[in-house]
Amino acid sequence: MDRNFYQSLANRSIAGEIFSPQECQEILTSSEIELLPLLNAAYEVRRNFCGKEVMIHIINNAQNGYCPEDCHYCVQAKTSKADIEEYPLKSDEEILAEAKHAYQTGAFRYCMVFAGRGPSERRTEKLAELIQKIKSQYPIEVCVSAGLLNEEKAKILKSAGLDRLNHNLNTSQEHYPHICTTHTYQDRLATLQAAKGAGLEMCSGMIVGMGEESKDVVEVARTLREMNVISIPVNFLMSIDGTQLTERKLDKELNPEYCLRVLCVYRFLNPKAELRVAAGREIHLRSMEVLALYPANSLFLQGYLNTRGASNAKTLQMIKDAGFTIKSEQNLDEILSKEKKNSHCDEHSCQSIKDRQDLRPYSCSPQ
Ligand code: SF4
Repeated sequence: MDRNFYQSLANRSIAGEIFSPQECQEILTSSEIELLPLLNAAYEVRRNFCGKEVMIHIINNAQNGYCPEDCHYCVQAKTSKADIEEYPLKSDEEILAEAKHAYQTGAFRYCMVFAGRGPSERRTEKLAELIQKIKSQYPIEVCVSAGLLNEEKAKILKSAGLDRLNHNLNTSQEHYPHICTTHTYQDRLATLQAAKGAGLEMCSGMIVGMGEESKDVVEVARTLREMNVISIPVNFLMSIDGTQLTERKLDKELNPEYCLRVLCVYRFLNPKAELRVAAGREIHLRSMEVLALYPANSLFLQGYLNTRGASNAKTLQMIKDAGFTIKSEQNLDEILSKEKKNSHCDEHSCQSIKDRQDLRPYSCSPQ
């Protein structure tokens, strides 16, 4: 493809044009469309609407496990055999301490995730109290992911000060029955509509790599555009032993180039959105991870719900090295220097002198 092709992708996206499903699938799969000029076109759109800032999110698994649903990718599902640390709802003190730490680590947004089908009325009131406490103590945006919600409950959370509600579509309508049987794609859409009705910002995205086809990836991106979703996490499946998807070998091999193309399609279709390169960036993008920041303008720090990610120092250094800044009241250099001191094995501490165990791991005794 010549230069004009890539330039026109950027221009059309910035002008608000919605690309056709066929065109998006070509971007995902055609070898005639080269990756670097494609990333550059996506970056032009990102820079136009989001500048060079990166928004950092820190996720708090406020309750782990005990979920009656059977999402096939999830270690907290009732059908999962994965060995996880289950615990009921954390205390307010514990959650507030984590919110404080998130704020001090430069997070723009603090995300609380509650496993389960959806909150009861009592749990909704409890969540509202918690949101009020966090918002009154720290100048941080708050997002909640609490399962299926109706508009009445969404309004209670909104009145408490909640900024954003997360509820991922995860995959396309057609593929949904292959990844969950206890609730439907329509249930998920209805929750997003409830959030919209309550005046909450919507956060919703996808998990790529669950056996779907490229058309499913495109369909989700287009639906999010139609619904005007403002925050879009794109996760790349971290396949975990014990989950149904992994046991049934339905997880799909991903490679860095495909993942980057997915992010470009999401950016072209959702030019103004906060596009997050979410779970799995480290293992699926590998040595090309930093390139994700050209289409995406947001990421998670400190790992994910049940899996570790790169160290804070490594992620912050990656942002700085690529010439991006962070959206925070905190200073990137100061946070980075603190995190480097705390990090046990980032690039710098890993350059320390090798000890005997490193040099002669198979020797029995000192010579
Ligand atoms: S509802 Fe949420 S916590 Fe429960 S199985 Fe599905 S993804 Fe996991």
